[in-house]
Amino acid sequence: MKDTTILITGASSGIGKATAELFAKEGARLILCGRRQERLDQLKEVFNTEVHLLNFDVSDRSAVFTAIETLPTEWKKIDILINNAGNAHGLDPVQNANLDDWDAMIDGNVKGVMYVTKAIIPQMVKRKAGQIINLGSIAGLEVYPNGNVYCASKFAVDAFTQGLRIDLNPFGIRVGAIHPGLVETEFSMVRFKGDEARSKSVYAPIDALQAEDVANAIGYMVSVPPHVTIADITLLPTDQANATVLNRKP
Ligand code: NAP
Repeated sequence: MKDTTILITGASSGIGKATAELFAKEGARLILCGRRQERLDQLKEVFNTEVHLLNFDVSDRSAVFTAIETLPTEWKKIDILINNAGNAHGLDPVQNANLDDWDAMIDGNVKGVMYVTKAIIPQMVKRKAGQIINLGSIAGLEVYPNGNVYCASKFAVDAFTQGLRIDLNPFGIRVGAIHPGLVETEFSMVRFKGDEARSKSVYAPIDALQAEDVANAIGYMVSVPPHVTIADITLLPTDQANATVLNRKP
């Protein structure tokens, strides 16, 4: 992958970080994005590959377009975009939910994916080449209790992915999504606003997926021959049957 440039949003943690580690080992050129600069700096320091860092909030439209438009010339050709940044905020019934949580999910998970994609695709369309992988979720395929707006945001990612695949079809650009079940990352710490005990209780009853499991599946989506598109992967822990059914440890 030495001449392949991959842009990963949300590379500072969890799935994005594990994906960056995987592609760094393969020698890809990496554009790593996030808001926590010190974490991105740490990755750049240890990776034995070319790395360019971008610090922006995916929900900030002008920050997204400025970051992509001002990339140095040698980083302007992006072969693979991995739209991974996103989070859940809260787990409450609609009637009790916090509107700031809703805004954060719609702005980050939905508009963020759309802005970053829109900023990056012109050069893919021009070159008639490229690949886009969006992080959906089992929550984007099935709604679970109190998941309401997080589920809506991930359903939107699924619809946007399908729309992109149709619109970019004439240009030979591959578009797919990956829909993981429970993955043990900082996701629940963010969802529950730093409540460690509540966060641990999400993963404790089962053997959850690890970020590396999702990264390996993304690696597979990228590794197939150019005439093959993996449109969707739904990746669940063996202990999880769907969005709500878990084989809990005794
Ligand atoms: P995580 O460890 O909390 O990582 C989330 C990443 O997204 C961080 O790097 C964070 O970076 C970045 N991010 C969040 N909001 C952002 C914003 N507004 N602007 C820029 N960057 C932002 O969680 P994760 O589990 O790896 O989540 C990655 C993706 O997988 C998300 O889209 C999530 O919805 C999806 N997913 C997760 C699970 C799960 O169970 N964990 C299951 C299905 C799908 P900064 O804070 O540094 O900006």
